[in-house]
Amino acid sequence: MTGHVLEYLGETKLELGPVGEAEGNWRSGRDDANVLWLVLDKDGGSVNTIGEDVIRELGEHIAATEADLPAALVIRSAKQAGFAAGADITGFEKMTDDAAVELLRQAHDVLDRIEKLNCPTICVVHGAALGAGFELALACDYRIATPGASFGFPEVQLGLHPGLGGTFRLPALIGPTDAMTMMLTGKTAHTKRAKSQGIVDAVVEERHVAAAVTAAVNGKIDRHSPGLKARAFGLEQARSLAAREMRKKTEEKAPSEHYPAPYALIDLWEEHGDDREAMQKGEIESFARLLDTETSRNLRRVFFLRQRLKEGGRGDDGIAHVHVIGAGAMGTEIAAMTAIRGKAVTLGDIDTKALGKAVKHAAQICEDKHLSGIETRDALDRLMPDPRGYGIARADLVIEAASEDREVKAKIFSGLKDKMKPDAILATNTSSLSVDDLGSEAPDKSRFAGLHFFNPVSKIDLVEVIRSKTAGDDTVQRLAAFCGEIGKLPARFEDYPGFVVNRALVPYMVEAMVLMDEGVDKAVIDTAALRFGMPMGPVALADQVGLDIGLYVAESLSDALDNKIPPISEDLRKKVEAGDLGKKTGRGFYDWSGGTPHPDADLGNAPEDLTDRLILPMLNACVEVLRKGIAKDADQLDAAMIFATGWAPFRGGPMHYAKSRGVAEITEALRKLETEHGPRFGPDAGWDDIG
Ligand code: NAD
Repeated sequence: MTGHVLEYLGETKLELGPVGEAEGNWRSGRDDANVLWLVLDKDGGSVNTIGEDVIRELGEHIAATEADLPAALVIRSAKQAGFAAGADITGFEKMTDDAAVELLRQAHDVLDRIEKLNCPTICVVHGAALGAGFELALACDYRIATPGASFGFPEVQLGLHPGLGGTFRLPALIGPTDAMTMMLTGKTAHTKRAKSQGIVDAVVEERHVAAAVTAAVNGKIDRHSPGLKARAFGLEQARSLAAREMRKKTEEKAPSEHYPAPYALIDLWEEHGDDREAMQKGEIESFARLLDTETSRNLRRVFFLRQRLKEGGRGDDGIAHVHVIGAGAMGTEIAAMTAIRGKAVTLGDIDTKALGKAVKHAAQICEDKHLSGIETRDALDRLMPDPRGYGIARADLVIEAASEDREVKAKIFSGLKDKMKPDAILATNTSSLSVDDLGSEAPDKSRFAGLHFFNPVSKIDLVEVIRSKTAGDDTVQRLAAFCGEIGKLPARFEDYPGFVVNRALVPYMVEAMVLMDEGVDKAVIDTAALRFGMPMGPVALADQVGLDIGLYVAESLSDALDNKIPPISEDLRKKVEAGDLGKKTGRGFYDWSGGTPHPDADLGNAPEDLTDRLILPMLNACVEVLRKGIAKDADQLDAAMIFATGWAPFRGGPMHYAKSRGVAEITEALRKLETEHGPRFGPDAGWDDIG
């Protein structure tokens, strides 16, 4: 083929055929071989999303294609970031039920017409093709991917299922078993897997895309044939049996009571899995129904909350080298994540054995994150054990993650004086000491703040960036940008006992101990929390955090906050003294030798106010930190609780839940608990200001 225009976008050369300037969201052109290239280049923004305008314009292009049929049609993206990140979710917010159905019908019509075009249709995918982007790719005859491409349906995370033909096109392509698993779990298939599953017909380097397109046009690429797999489950009886199994498995991860979408998808497949037309009609109606559920609205809210935190982490951090002090549970993971994200890291500890263990653990994290051999080697090359602290003089950021002891930290800080670069920042990962107080020991108060990571750092996205009274704006901004650079979500808070997340979480865990002291079974307590939607019950969570750490944090919060933390259980103290510290020692309240406990108790005889006793103190603490101006607003607080603790996402966050349940009802319930169980339940004065 000749006449191709090579586009230079950043460092990646994308083969875009002969396309000209964008008209609307698409660019198009025919090459010498009469192949029509339709290239998605969404107006404004570095990522393609698929909204009403993109589909309408695509429809116009397809109408023109039908009128003057090319030798083949190629669809791809002009964005370096990838093919398409999915539907434009902002568009969902304004949609009514009927409008959604109408819009979906029009969009389905466009994709159906692509599928019916009387010429080969080829989708070229680089980067991610997610949701509606994947569905567009599925409507084409061929999918050619470049290395690094990925495909997936993340709709379940938004309380939805695919809505643009994915529910019938993917099962037809790769068979219902793999297709349903992908749609129900929201997991993406990376290039290799996508090829072996048959999602992709060919994987080629970008420089060979033109040749691969020519080969596809000439029928020289074998199209994946689903064979017998797609025809399995043709019988309703067989589907019913499989559907029952799917429901059972899904229930473990996403209870039907709170997450309707996966079950709607299973129903759809069970009912219409052998009838494409009925499936298409059913998909549209079911999608529109789900769009209108409280769960989907709240999960979409969570999506926007994440975006907002991400925004706060943009900008230049000016940090190339990080020195981490303390190679324990936290320091090791902070160092590993920072090195994985491309920064030079030196890691110091007074205990050289800890440094050896840290490197091994960092390698494990690389493996868990599916890094390639080269990526792992590079990350580990960037992570240097540094027992003598040579890195301090070169670091732009020093993160102190040594033992939780004021004296230890003060001594470390005094040792940093005159050693750090003049504009370098010092951050502490303390979870229970006052950042303001520690600041008095820092070499430069204006360049000192808290950077509170959560355990395990490699899995929990949130980081509380704690501004000390003396910290400069630039310091806080650079720390937030640093979080963004290492793939974390920064929430900027003021200094406060427990900051925000632990302030809210500790009463939940300590109340569980009080309940146990009263004779309520731990499995009953945890089951109540799980049924509410928490990812883990408070007793199991205490075990996971470590009972010694929990006790320490609870005690320091108790000292700092009069009356607000429940009395600390003697049983907890005894367990800590006996060395039964929870998951890390194999035994705490639970026996962890068989893995994470999954309690599922009968709540028939549970105290009536059990769930409120666990959940309302958390809400009360949230209101307290809002009233005191520790968090900026309710949305920021909700985001922090969801991304640090997994707080029932389908409820949209603690403050969102409080508002939906009603402030009056909650304060009344708190008053009742106060009368029955003590002053720790007294409603915070801030409730009056919650709208
Ligand atoms: P840890 O006990 O696992 O590790 C602390 C490390 O610091 C040890 O390897 C120790 O040898 C080292 N150390 C002690 N004194 C030192 C010194 N003077 N110089 C260099 N290294 C020294 O502790 P951790 O759980 O990793 O906690 C570290 C910090 O992170 C604490 O401030 C803690 O409050 C905070 N934190 C912990 C968690 C958690 O769940 N573990 C969560 C958030 C924050």
